Amino acid sequence: MTCDLANPIFTDEAKATAHMEADRWPDGVNCPHCGSLNVRKMAGKTQAGMFLCNDCREKFTVRTGTIFARSHIPLRKWLMATYLMAASKKGMSALQIGRMLGLSYESAWFMCHRIREGMKPTGAAPIGGKVVESDETVFGGKAKNRAHAKKEPKKHTVMTLVERDGKSRSFHIANVKAKTLREKIVTTVSRKSHLMTDELASYEKVGKEFANHGTVNHSADEYVRLGGFVHVNTAECRFSLMKRAVFGTHHSVSEAHLPRYLAEWDFKWNTRKMTDGERAAIALEGIEGKRLTYRQTNDAANA
Ligand SMILES: [Zn+2]
Repeated sequence: MTCDLANPIFTDEAKATAHMEADRWPDGVNCPHCGSLNVRKMAGKTQAGMFLCNDCREKFTVRTGTIFARSHIPLRKWLMATYLMAASKKGMSALQIGRMLGLSYESAWFMCHRIREGMKPTGAAPIGGKVVESDETVFGGKAKNRAHAKKEPKKHTVMTLVERDGKSRSFHIANVKAKTLREKIVTTVSRKSHLMTDELASYEKVGKEFANHGTVNHSADEYVRLGGFVHVNTAECRFSLMKRAVFGTHHSVSEAHLPRYLAEWDFKWNTRKMTDGERAAIALEGIEGKRLTYRQTNDAANA
């Protein structure tokens, strides 16, 4: 995907469809129902984008079996929304996406969350093997900071695990007890890593399970030790980016949707060295692929 908003795939539905077909079927169109390559494009205006499988006789389009299947939103708008979300450094609200694409707030909200879902890592391998910083922060400000808030918004604790010069994974956690932190750390970070944390007692035991454990004492203003090696500045940088996005763009984030926002911010961090176009292409692949998982889950539940 090129990162130029003048690209016709964002305005012309036929070109958007052709773009998605090339993306989904680089080695030729195959039937999503039976896998056959013996398919033909149907002619006629009402059948635009429709294929017929000569083997199972089922009809399908590039949307079949993907997140887009049950959506009435044109593909060109999906492409544009994915691009805008992937390219914006501070995130975009559903209100803004809706206004820019001429969609209702409800449609835009649905799209934004599906796009975030696509940004979640699949089959996530452990991070680390080098220095990994762990840090926690609290999301959700005080009522006095919010012009229209009637009661104090609920606070949420978020932890982030971030490789120095590498990837990050963030989680919404119930508390900062040793057991809670350990569960996330040992399932996310390779044991060969050098774990870097603050001096929270909860890290003491789990630190021994890793190759090394360095701690920095925030309370004593001791942010950087050993010539700049012992610090959790990368994690703090991640938090400040996320907080600016959440309070500047989304104002507040509900507990139910918090993990999707965290996925969006991890995704943006992990792809920060890519171009906007490359990042958007990866997000799009994620959305295309993930619908099948939903389907299978739904089918299993209905069986
Ligand atoms: Zn078929």
